[in-house]
Amino acid sequence: MSFRNFKMVSYVVFGRASFNQLDEILAPQRKGDAPMIFLVDHFFEGKPLLNRIPLRGKDKVIMAEVTYEPKTTQVDALAKLLKEEFGSVSGIIGIGGGSTMDLAKAVSLMMTNPGSSADYQGWDLVQEPGVYKVGIPTLSGTGAEVSRTTVLTGPTRKLGMNSDFTPFDQIVLDPELTKDAPANQRFYTGMDCYIHCIESLEGTYLNEFSKSYGEKALQLCQKVFVEKNVWDDECDDQLMMASYAGGMSIAYSQVGVAHAVSYGLSYLLGTKHGIGNCIVMNHLEEYYPAGVKEFKYMVEKNKIEIPKGICKGLGEEDFEKMINVSMGMKPLWENALGKDWEKIMTREKLRALFDKL
Ligand code: NAD
Ligand code: ZN
Repeated sequence: MSFRNFKMVSYVVFGRASFNQLDEILAPQRKGDAPMIFLVDHFFEGKPLLNRIPLRGKDKVIMAEVTYEPKTTQVDALAKLLKEEFGSVSGIIGIGGGSTMDLAKAVSLMMTNPGSSADYQGWDLVQEPGVYKVGIPTLSGTGAEVSRTTVLTGPTRKLGMNSDFTPFDQIVLDPELTKDAPANQRFYTGMDCYIHCIESLEGTYLNEFSKSYGEKALQLCQKVFVEKNVWDDECDDQLMMASYAGGMSIAYSQVGVAHAVSYGLSYLLGTKHGIGNCIVMNHLEEYYPAGVKEFKYMVEKNKIEIPKGICKGLGEEDFEKMINVSMGMKPLWENALGKDWEKIMTREKLRALFDKL
């Protein structure tokens, strides 16, 4: 038996207004006049946060287009643009939700690795460390700030660049940055964390390491979405730490049924990660009875709409595609249902589940 030996984020700063320390944090990482590149979620276009970015010399701000989740073509184009304009850069700083953070990680890797990011979708295919990279979340829940992957949609699949070179060198956890997130978006991304916890804690891969983080993250999610009646600063603090702990939990376990099915939706229909997980979770009583019950309570309490009937009108071929993508997520199914998962989750059963969504 061999135990996972995983690389973590090297530096972490946490606190309200810790964003103000960014200039100081970046200073020792600057290599001559090679610029720092700030990849900023397009939500912040024209917002005061842009004026707080500590630009020096040739530093550049690029607004990240995240209407759709990151694609390998988008990553390749950004890396090409930066190489053409600057040759080399001192670092990439991703400021935004999971999509922007994933873009930043991937672009950092593609500044030093040859070819296309699509060549590295998989496990441990990346050969060279990327350039220095920083993650600054403005939404809490995905755990992308701590994970060793960056999820990309490529020409043939939706799969991450999972590697020891993928985690950020530095993350800045400043809960103030999440305070203007709309209630729906905050809920969908927050539920990504809640679902990570349920899938990790109910999974067969569970050990004390992932359990400790998973239980803490779950408790924090319950505080903000079950116990609290108004959203306040403490909620932003707690959800940011929930995301971090939830990410740490799955680092040593795996996600499960909701994610495996949601990847199918996302591949075919472009359904976004957070909302896709919610759409699926709504129908998983059979697998996660207590979690689904609480999930439904949170949906109602927080007055959130979960779309229904999104697979209506799809043809047989479409269902086949979604089933193939979903069935391909073997470790997720094995974690959820055990080694004999293929006997439990048949194509017919999965088809019936997609039908309900
Ligand atoms: P997101 O990054 O896709 O952003 C969702 C929307 O919220 C966007 O329109 C964005 O502009 C907006 N937004 C961001 N910050 C905001 C703020 N403070 N206020 C208002 N609006 C804001 O959403 P997400 O749920 O954080 O991330 C989902 C992405 O993360 C997916 O691409 C998914 O594949 C990825 N993901 C990655 C990992 C990982 O480990 N790398 C894990 C889970 C999910
Ligand atoms: Zn997730």
